[in-house]
Amino acid sequence: CGIIGVLGNHAAAPLMVEALRRLEYRGYDSAGIATIHEGTLDRRRAVGKLGELADLLVVNPIAGRSGIGHTRWATHGAPTIENAHPHSYGPVAVVHNGIIENFRELRLELEAKGHSFVTETDTETVAVLCAQYCADGLAPVEAAVATLKRLHGAFALCFLFEGEDDLIVAARRGSPLAIGHGDGEMFVGSDALALAPFTRRVTYLDDGDHVVLTRAGAEIFDATGAKTIRKTKTVALDN
Ligand code: GLU
Repeated sequence: CGIIGVLGNHAAAPLMVEALRRLEYRGYDSAGIATIHEGTLDRRRAVGKLGELADLLVVNPIAGRSGIGHTRWATHGAPTIENAHPHSYGPVAVVHNGIIENFRELRLELEAKGHSFVTETDTETVAVLCAQYCADGLAPVEAAVATLKRLHGAFALCFLFEGEDDLIVAARRGSPLAIGHGDGEMFVGSDALALAPFTRRVTYLDDGDHVVLTRAGAEIFDATGAKTIRKTKTVALDN
C-alpha cells in the first residue's frame, strides 16, 4: 500500500522505516524492507504495525545504503510474513502496490519453466518473471522493462537487484509514484509525504512511466518506452 526506495549515502533501513511511517495513514497489515549490502540482497519483514518491523531491526539489523520498503494491504494472500513484501527470487527483489491481474497465467507459465512459488501473492510472480529474464541474459534494467511489458493491472512497482548498489527501477501504472531528488542521493516513494524527511524536490511520474534511478539522477521513460522529462517541483509541507 506504501512504497519507498532509497539510493542513499547512509544506512537505508532507518530512512525507509521513517518514510513508511509517513505512509501509515494509508493503512497496512504488514511491512518490510530489502537492502543491497556488499552486493548482496537482504530483507526483513514483519506482520502488524511498523513497530514490529522496527523491533525486528533492533535485534536483527540490516546494513546497506540502497533499499526498497513497503507497507502491505493484502489483496492476494493472507497478511503473513511469507506474503509480506519485499518479495525476492534469484537476484531480484520487488515491492508492489496494487494488483497484477494476469498473475495466474504468468505463474502457470513460470511453474512450467520449473520455478516454484512460496507465497500466495500476485507480487511474487513479478520477482520470478524478472529473475527469469535475468537468467535469460538480460541486464537488470532490460529485465525489469521486459517484465513490465507482461503485466496487466493497476500498480506501482520498485525493483532492486543483487550486485547493483546504485540502481532502482520503478514503474507507475495506476498507482501514484514520485521521485525525490537529494544531494547525491535519490529516492522514490508513493507520495511527497514519504519523501519529505529527505527532500522537497519531487518529480511525479505520469501514468505508464518507468524510471531508472541511480544516485546520479532519474531517467524517465513514458508508456511507449521513449525517454521523457517530467517537471520537478519543490513541494511545501508542514513537517
Ligand atoms: N497485491 C499485493 C499483495 O497483496 C500488493 C498489495 C498492496 O498494495 O499493498 O501483496
